[in-house]
Formats: sequence, structure tokens, C-alpha cells
Amino acid sequence: MLTADDPSPLPPSWAGGILTIDLDALAANYRSLRDRLAPGIVCAAAVKADAYGLGARKVVPVLHAAGCRTFFVAHLAEGVEIRPLLDADSTIVVLNGAMPGTEADLHAHGLVPVLNSVEQVAAWRSLARVRGTSLPAVLQVDSGMSRFGLSEDNLRAMADRPDALAGITPLLVMSHLACADEPAHPANHAQRASFLRLRDLLPPVPASLAASSGLFMGDVWHFDMVRPGAALYGINPTPGWPNPMRPVVRLQARIVQTRMIGPGTAVGYGAAFIADRPSRIATLAVGYGDGFPRAIGGHGTAILPARPEIGLPIVGRMSMDCLAVDVTELDDTPLPPGTALDLIGPHCPIEAAALAAGTIGYELLTGLGARYHRIYTAK
Ligand SMILES: *Cc1c(COP(=O)(O)O)cnc(C)c1O
Repeated sequence: MLTADDPSPLPPSWAGGILTIDLDALAANYRSLRDRLAPGIVCAAAVKADAYGLGARKVVPVLHAAGCRTFFVAHLAEGVEIRPLLDADSTIVVLNGAMPGTEADLHAHGLVPVLNSVEQVAAWRSLARVRGTSLPAVLQVDSGMSRFGLSEDNLRAMADRPDALAGITPLLVMSHLACADEPAHPANHAQRASFLRLRDLLPPVPASLAASSGLFMGDVWHFDMVRPGAALYGINPTPGWPNPMRPVVRLQARIVQTRMIGPGTAVGYGAAFIADRPSRIATLAVGYGDGFPRAIGGHGTAILPARPEIGLPIVGRMSMDCLAVDVTELDDTPLPPGTALDLIGPHCPIEAAALAAGTIGYELLTGLGARYHRIYTAK
């Protein structure tokens, strides 16, 4: 069933590609992650990059209804976009913190910055001084990823200065795991040990280390809050193991035309595919201009939903607005123009498509373009 406020203004039949987002599966994924936590541990949600390409305006209210009250975005503008969707009972944390000069804007929109550096701490402290009030913030420590966060030296210098956090109310101390998708990687334990040590240099506040994959590594990684993103959207948080999450995204591409070609006939730019047998080729109306990765040409698979057992190879180089699929194995199954094949779906998971494109599910989802007809389903 379609939700009433389907955001795509154009009829679905106009679109070459159809992106269906299952909001019930999204909510179920949130609840299943939360149910893995001991009572009292907070399950936040990463909704940065437009909720991993799925549409933050749709995703955020569903997560709120499922019980989520802490949302992580990367940029000020992303926080401003979702702030009106949430009541004052919800906290929106801006992972990158405030760019210089935007501290007052961040505060005015009711957003909480992550303070990643001494400069960001100083800027937030001075805004608090100017306002004559205390301002909430999340403190990030660098436990070994060398990306964001205060270093051990920074923290020791701060610990020697009683006014280092004057006017700042720390809500949380956080860090991020670099190798949680490989639970046995020694960097995980090193980061956890470093996190524990660095946390002790700060006032006692709740702590957070794990995102999707870290959540599945077990209780000692959960601390007081976990911050999953990918798993909510159906990306497998346990690579190499069966996906414990429900699929949220289905991407379909519609057939424009089919043709029979003989052996030796080329398909697409650069004649990169040459048929070695009499072949039936379908041209689908999705290309790299839709954000579907061009690198999948020659590697990926499409599925006709009625024949899920047959993987249909995406052949040749992908064009901006179309791609070619070898549908020979379907024999003479009718494939009238407009027929939809799955590019991401129950029988072609995100991970498989991403692997075929030489990338990861995260990049595949966040790259999903604006040209698809989007359908949000909910019971
Ligand atoms: C993106 C991000 C998350 C969510 O990560 P997933 O792997 O998608 O669960 C959590 N914390 C931080 C700091 C992030 O940048």
C-alpha cells in the first residue's frame, strides 16, 4: 500500500526506475536492534546523508514512532532539515560539529554539536560565554581512527585546566570503531581500551562507541548508547554471515525494449560486450545518471521477480540513462516494454550489487539518485 503523501509528483509510469522503501521494515529493524541491548541502553539512529539516501523526511518520523529519540546527522544543514520533524523530546547531534562561524546557527536550530577538536571546544565555550548560559555538546575522543576527536594530549591539557569545559554541558562522550565489520580485528580491542582510558580524562558522562557492526559484537561494546545507521536500512551489519536485518530497499528498472542479436554482435559503449551465442538483450531505463554505479556494468545481475532463480547478467558498459541485461536464459518469457526487473531486491541484495560494482552498500544507497519514482510503503 502506498502512503498518502507519496512525495513523487509524477506518475510512476513516467519513471525508468522505481525505488521502493519499506517503512515497516525500517521500523522493525530499529526495534530489533534496540531489543539486542540491555535495558537502559539507548539506541540512537544515524540519519546522515539523507538517511543513507532513503529520504530523511520519511525515515526520521518512522524511527521516532518506533521509539528513537537521538538522531545523528553529519552537517548543520541536515540537522536543520529534520529539526521540524521532531519535538523537543528528541536530540539531533551534528557529527562534524560546527564549521567556524556557524556555532550560533547550530544552537539557534536546537542542534547539539559533536566537539571534535580543541578549536571546536573553544568556539562552543565562547558561544556559551557570550550567551551567559551552558550549552549541551557531545565530546568525541580519537580512540585510534585518526579522523575525528580529541587526542590524548588534548584531553590531558584540558584535564589540567579547570575551565576547559566551562559553559559546556557534556551529554555524551563518543568515539568510532574503524574495523567493526571485522570483529576479530585486533584494532577493535585496542580502540576499546583507548576509549576507556580517554573517557577517564573527562567528567563522567554516558559513553558511546558502537555503530551497526559494533552493536553485533556484544554487550561490552554497547556502553550507554549505540548509533546504528546501515543496519536500519537493511545493510548487513555482519559481513560474511547471514543478514539479520530486514530488507528496506528495492530498486527496479523498467524495460524499454528487447532485441535478439547474433553471435559476434556488440552491446553498448566501447563494444565492451560481444555476444558469443544468439542472445536476447533487454535495455533498461536506469543508468549512472540515476546514481546506479557505472562500475556494475559487466558484473552485476538483474532479476525478473517471476523467475527469481535466474540471475540475468548486466552486460557491457552502462550508459547514463540505460543499461543492458542479457535475458537469454528467460527463453521466450514475454518481456513487454515497461516490465520491471530488480536491481536491488529480495534476490539481489544490496551487498551483491555493491560487490559487483566494487563498492559497499553504504555507497550504493547514498548514491541513489533523484530520478527514480520513490514509493514509501507502510501498513
Ligand atoms: C555513520 C556513523 C555511524 C553509523 O554507522 P553505521 O556503520 O552506518 O551503523 C555511527 N557513528 C558515527 C560517528 C558515524 O559517522
